[in-house]
Amino acid sequence: MKYVGAHISASGGVENAPVNANAIGAKAFAFFTKNQRQWFAAPYTQQNIDLFKSRCEEYGFSPDYILPHDSYLINLGHPEEEGLKKSRSAFFDEMQRCEQLGLNRFNFHPGSHLNQIPVDACLDRIAESVNMALDRTKGVTAVIENTAGQGTNLGHTFEQIAHIIAKVEDKSRVGVCLDTAHTLASGYEIRTKDAFDETFAKFAQIVGFHYLKGMHINDSKKELASRVDRHDSIGKGLMNMDLFGFIMNDPRFDDMPLILETPDDSIWAQEIQLLYSLAK
Ligand SMILES: [Zn+2]
Ligand SMILES: [Zn+2]
Repeated sequence: MKYVGAHISASGGVENAPVNANAIGAKAFAFFTKNQRQWFAAPYTQQNIDLFKSRCEEYGFSPDYILPHDSYLINLGHPEEEGLKKSRSAFFDEMQRCEQLGLNRFNFHPGSHLNQIPVDACLDRIAESVNMALDRTKGVTAVIENTAGQGTNLGHTFEQIAHIIAKVEDKSRVGVCLDTAHTLASGYEIRTKDAFDETFAKFAQIVGFHYLKGMHINDSKKELASRVDRHDSIGKGLMNMDLFGFIMNDPRFDDMPLILETPDDSIWAQEIQLLYSLAK
């Protein structure tokens, strides 16, 4: 079964996330565990936690279809000691928030080398950061998101993702989220059936579908291999509707959160309907 939803707002309290997701007819959702542009946030109260859980149950959202996203400030591969330390503690804090909410996966952007350390050293550092967080938490899988490769962001090739996974000690708690816009922008063609099949055969071979824990379903304003991360609404960008049809009819994307991060939140309900209409 397909579980389509969107990255919805949790402003006013994490317990609002399931309400907002339900309001747009989502079967899955993503949210920021705290304000994504600030380092610190007050811890969840017991009331936040209890309400979040009871509302998820009320609206039928299982943790398997909820994919919280990390803050944009975190860089788990930071070349400098202070930035790395700050990022690691923020990542641990967010992972712990997921644990408190009874969730089982946490999506993060791998990190950036900032032109100060070699790519491989940065990937090793990211894996070490993940190991540290996994050691101190239970039940939450760290889900690496592929990136467009903008600036010095890593995670834009399947090989880089495989490198991080190889160095994570607990393989049962590491996963991957592929973003369709990032996949295209990073240089993987997916818009024809042949190209789609070829790209995902590469993914299967280099990373493995058993690591796939979710997808971000976005159209892209930027072309193949542009290395620029600009999402567009479904059908409005440079993707074609075929791609979304391939995903909606491919059982390899069953039973995981399929999350819209498209720019116009006023049409998310329609976009969700549109995606479901593509499933034959
Ligand atoms: Zn994404
Ligand atoms: Zn993006």
